[in-house]
This record gives sequence, C-alpha cells and structure tokens, in this order.
Amino acid sequence: MSSALSTLLHAPVYAPLQRLQDAVTEAAGIQVYIKREDLIHPQISGNKWRKLKYNLLQAAQEGKDTLLTFGGAYSNHIYAVAAAGKLYKFRTIGIIRGEEHQPLNATLSFARACGMHLHYLDRTTYQQKEHPEVLYSLQEQYGNFYLIPEGGSNALAVKGCMEIIQDIPLEVDYLCLPCGTGGTMAGLVAGAPDKKIIGFSALKGGEFLNQSVKELLQSYAIIDAAPNKTYLTASTWHIQTNYHFGGYAKVQPELLEFIRKFEQTHNIPLEQVYTGKMLYGVYDLLQEGYFPKGSTLVVLHTGGLQGRSAMLNF
Ligand SMILES: *Cc1c(COP(=O)(O)O)cnc(C)c1O
Repeated sequence: MSSALSTLLHAPVYAPLQRLQDAVTEAAGIQVYIKREDLIHPQISGNKWRKLKYNLLQAAQEGKDTLLTFGGAYSNHIYAVAAAGKLYKFRTIGIIRGEEHQPLNATLSFARACGMHLHYLDRTTYQQKEHPEVLYSLQEQYGNFYLIPEGGSNALAVKGCMEIIQDIPLEVDYLCLPCGTGGTMAGLVAGAPDKKIIGFSALKGGEFLNQSVKELLQSYAIIDAAPNKTYLTASTWHIQTNYHFGGYAKVQPELLEFIRKFEQTHNIPLEQVYTGKMLYGVYDLLQEGYFPKGSTLVVLHTGGLQGRSAMLNF
C-alpha cells in the first residue's frame, strides 16, 4: 500500500459548516448551515472523496493496482477517480459512454492528463456494462482490476458517506443533499436513520432513487457488523423529484439566476448539475414554509465544481 494511501484512513477532513443567513432564511426562521464537502480536496471533491475512500483501501487490500470505472464524458466521478489514481498510485481505466469527441472536453482531458486510459463504449453496450460478458471482455483486455460502479456507489461508498454524519457537531433536524445514484443519500440514512433527510434528484423521474437508496442500504447491511440495522426500516427520508429543471445537466434561466445570486450573497461557488438545483429546491421549500420555524437544517455542498458551467460567469 502506498504511504499516501495508508494515511487516508485517518486523515483529518476539512469540510466545515458555514451558516447561511439571508433574507429567505431569516423570513423562514430557520437556521441553515452548509457543509462544505467541496473543500475536502480540489479534484477528488465532496462526496466523491467520501465514496472512494474505502474503495481505494479495499483495492489495495486485494492487491489490485488498477481501478476501472464508468461514466459520461462530463462525469465528476471519472474526474475524481482519475485524480485519485494519480495521487494514490493506481492505474485507472475510464469506460466512457458514447463515442470519442476530439478535442477532449475539460473533464476528459484532465482525466487523461492524470494518466487515465479512456475506453469508449457505444450507448447500447454501455447500458449492459455490468453484464458478465462485457466485464469479462474488459478483464481480458485490462487484467484483474478493481471495479468501481458508475457514480462510485456501492456498500463501501455508503460506509464512507456515513462519516459525513459523524462530522456534523450540531443537533440537526433536516439534512438536504443532491442525488444522482443515491449513494451519498444511503450513507446519510445509514449514519442518521432518525433524521429527516431530503434528497433532491438531479435527474428527471427521480422516483427510481427510492429503490436505489434501499438497495444500497441493503448492500451496506451485508458488510455492516453491527447487529442493529435500523436504517433498513427508517422512514424519515424521502426524495424530492420536482427540481430537475428538465433533466440531468439541463438548465433553465431561473436556475442560473438563482445560482448567481446565491454565489454573490454567500460567496460560495455552486454548479448547475447538482448543488444549484438542490439549493434552489431548499430555498423554494423555505419560502413555502415547509420547515417548521426554529428548525436546524444542514445542506450538503457535495462539490462537483469542475463541472461548473461557463454560463454562470456573466
Ligand atoms: C456525483 C455527485 C452527486 C450525486 O451523488 P450520488 O451519491 O450519486 O447520489 C451529487 N453532487 C455532486 C456534486 C456530485 O458530483
């Protein structure tokens, strides 16, 4: 195991809580804090760092020197795995959805510069990417790799994201976060099964996340040695499906306007795929009076700033 990797387990994490105070939070009478997971690492940002931590340790423990994972051409996960591979000395292979486009976009050029090998799969094959046949042919080509699923979500990712909860020294009533695959959400539910947790889907048709979060909790339960797995029956979490703005990575002028205003007011950068949509939703609920006055709310800044659109710059 590389020495950088062996410090990973106990490395202190810098992801402070900051109070968000503005006209909306004041009128609502709610204490709102933002947990700056985006500050954990400039490249392995936010929830991707949390999700990778135990996976990297596991890969090393299994003696694997290659990480293979999947993602779209703008994927924060691909970006993070490439950076982690460089930092912790793993060979990395990114299986990218769709055809190659030259010149590479910023995400993929970064990944390549980190040493990631990019392997493109047409969209039909990509849909079957976890079928034994497809994995077998990847294994023939790349040898015995450590597989990290798309978005990095598996039982070990849930374990890593549970540590977000241990890192919040506050009595919290509500936790809000953006969701893509539900891995981070599953970690929060496993870490705080009694808290009200609201996941904001970044995708259209986000109802599927209810099932994904449940499945991830079940897969975590298998590796969890603790006898009491109350998170499996927890019912205080739910998915908000109304704030996708037309679908994954789609934007609308009012979303961009909200992000610009938020950034100016709080001097905290957001991006338009996850954190912007989630905070738009949170502010909408604050204005609707959804949260009882006097509640304490923590929103998770899950990072992803590598994907911040240039449209937000003016
Ligand atoms: C990947 C990502 C998410 C989605 O996390 P899941 O665990 O897949 O739900 C949320 N926010 C940001 C910034 C991300 O990069």
